[in-house]
Amino acid sequence: MNAEPSIQSKLLDLAAVDAELSRIEHRRKVLPEEQEVQRLEAERTARKDAAVKVEILIDDLDRDIRKLEGEIDAVRKREDRDRAMLTSGSVGAKQLSELQHELTSLERRRKVLEDDEIDVLERREAAAADHAHAGANLDQAEQDLIDAERRRDDAVADLNVAQQRCESDRKALAGGFPADLLAAYDKQRASYGVGAALLQARRCGACRIELDRGEIARIAKTAPDVVLRCPECNSILVRTKHSGL
Ligand SMILES: [Zn+2]
Repeated sequence: MNAEPSIQSKLLDLAAVDAELSRIEHRRKVLPEEQEVQRLEAERTARKDAAVKVEILIDDLDRDIRKLEGEIDAVRKREDRDRAMLTSGSVGAKQLSELQHELTSLERRRKVLEDDEIDVLERREAAAADHAHAGANLDQAEQDLIDAERRRDDAVADLNVAQQRCESDRKALAGGFPADLLAAYDKQRASYGVGAALLQARRCGACRIELDRGEIARIAKTAPDVVLRCPECNSILVRTKHSGL
């Protein structure tokens, strides 16, 4: 394949634009702002789970409190009934003793239930504090996520602008090449990542391999309009006045 040296050297401009497009594509894949969004999404999920866990605990404790209050109330009613009977003067000695005995055990039972209730109320109070804390944590995580998403969107918008600029540069450049040369370049770029590179200081600019003296001597004798390929990576090797031939 042949092409004017001036046309060949334009391949280096195209390669520079394509390298920038590759950098943009890579940056899009490893965007730190996106990684931060993902980290904060996981954080928000964890904090939401923590808040829900506390809410479930509070529901359980409220149910325990209602149950204990019901039991205490029932014991208290029975105590009242027993006391009323005791003071009515209408019970016999045997029943009197039974009532006193029952009152003692009811009082003991009520004390145990009341102690249990105090214990549960304390846990309920601690859970309420935990809930407030978890809610504040969740609010903070949500705010952090909104901020991170905005930074991510800004970064993506910057990449989009850069990509559009490169694509329009590429379009303008691509129009200046013969179809066969551009096709050869694109094919090489698709398979190797780089389509064309400068030959400089005996090295291929794409694979960085140093060509042996025999190869360099052969290249130096090749007509300038012949399109050369790197013997190592097959990239189009562009010769310019910087090639040092
Ligand atoms: Zn090479």
